[in-house]
Amino acid sequence: MAEKTAAELLREELCYQPKNAFRVLSEDELEQADAYCEDYKTFLDRAKTEREAVSEAIKLAEAKGFVPFDHTKPLKAGDKVYVDNRGKALLLAVIGTRPIEEGVSIAAAHVDSPRLDLKPNPLYEDHALAYLDTHYYGGIKKYQWMTIPLALHGVVVRKDGSRVTVCIGESADDPVLCITDLLPHLGANQMKKTAAEFIGGEEMNILIGSRPIPDDEGADAVKLNILKLLNEKYGITETDFLSAELEAVPAYQARDVGLDRSMIGAYGHDDRVCAYTALTATFALENPAYTAVTILADKEETGSEGNTGMQSAYLRYFIEDIAEALGTNARHVFRSSLCLSADVNVAYDPLYPDTVEARNCAALNQGVVLTKYTGARGKGDTNDASAELMGFFRRIMDNADVVWQIGELGKVDLGGGGTVAKYIADLDVNTVDLGVPVLSMHAPFEVVSKQDVYMTYKAFYALLSRDEKL
Ligand code: MN
Ligand code: MN
Repeated sequence: MAEKTAAELLREELCYQPKNAFRVLSEDELEQADAYCEDYKTFLDRAKTEREAVSEAIKLAEAKGFVPFDHTKPLKAGDKVYVDNRGKALLLAVIGTRPIEEGVSIAAAHVDSPRLDLKPNPLYEDHALAYLDTHYYGGIKKYQWMTIPLALHGVVVRKDGSRVTVCIGESADDPVLCITDLLPHLGANQMKKTAAEFIGGEEMNILIGSRPIPDDEGADAVKLNILKLLNEKYGITETDFLSAELEAVPAYQARDVGLDRSMIGAYGHDDRVCAYTALTATFALENPAYTAVTILADKEETGSEGNTGMQSAYLRYFIEDIAEALGTNARHVFRSSLCLSADVNVAYDPLYPDTVEARNCAALNQGVVLTKYTGARGKGDTNDASAELMGFFRRIMDNADVVWQIGELGKVDLGGGGTVAKYIADLDVNTVDLGVPVLSMHAPFEVVSKQDVYMTYKAFYALLSRDEKL
């Protein structure tokens, strides 16, 4: 290699230059990321809802020696425990060797993703076609959900309390469902609408059948036949829909994207990509110095409300229980604690350059994104991480050879977004946003880079295995 010029050396020394992972990592390191992402794709295919993500995470955790947390029992360094919050959110901890008053390390992510929830009374028939009426969940571009194969996942609770798990559309011989669109030949008026008006929330009705029950002329014979099929398969009636949580999600599996297989396209990277990386970094810990706490939250996409969302007290109670079991008050734990609040971020998309400010926007393959603040309208609604905290994370990530970059979510006046960071910071925890850059965020098929996924795992591991304090 040619000697570097004086200017090149100066540039290296003085300039912030985010690096493309493919230009700085060895062939071995690149292969590690590819291998890691094979398991990530499997996780995505098994975890298309928050409930499935939590049950899959518990299965993996138990295989790694985690046991249900019992607040009446003492804790000691090395213990691995978890709390299942109503099957929709999960807390895990690995007890550290240092006194808990020195703080804990927190890795946070969410496991809910935008989707189409069924209404409480969803099934109806119109002109001999049966439909499921939906109420969408999270921020979606509704038109993206038309004419794609949909699967139905969730639970139905019968009046006697028994619970049925529903999954239709995932195996190759399963039927799938879909929302239909108008043919272009008759679409002249429709095409004049804005994208926001293209399909209304009340038109997002999923086609589920067209065959009437035999020997019946009733106007609900197709619907009745669907109810009969559901009853045969799941033992449920129409009234059972009232006590159900059924979610329509894309029916396809995670796939490599690009001839070079450098990317993964899938439903639900936001935010299972951070959930999976946080989880596996937690599993990799052996006797950490600081107690590691990992939280996989629900309801982020609708504002983190409710008892499984991050605004609920369950994280606080968990750390209080751990602190008590170790003989101290949690108040003294939160203050010294450090949190990486992980969620996906926008990746620079050359097709839409006007929406971001390139110098402060993450790019695909440049590693995990550290984000000082999120929010909108003049830093409203955000946790703005301190310079000290940013400095700390720069140091531990560089020391762990993490490829990372800085990123904001879009142009100042355009929009923005929120994460769970502020709710954790509200507990008096030092919190910063971090995540994976995504193309087509919130679309039914989101794209991430395999290298960025692996670097997010490495960033979490650097935090959770740290031996230094802020
Ligand atoms: Mn989101
Ligand atoms: Mn998210």
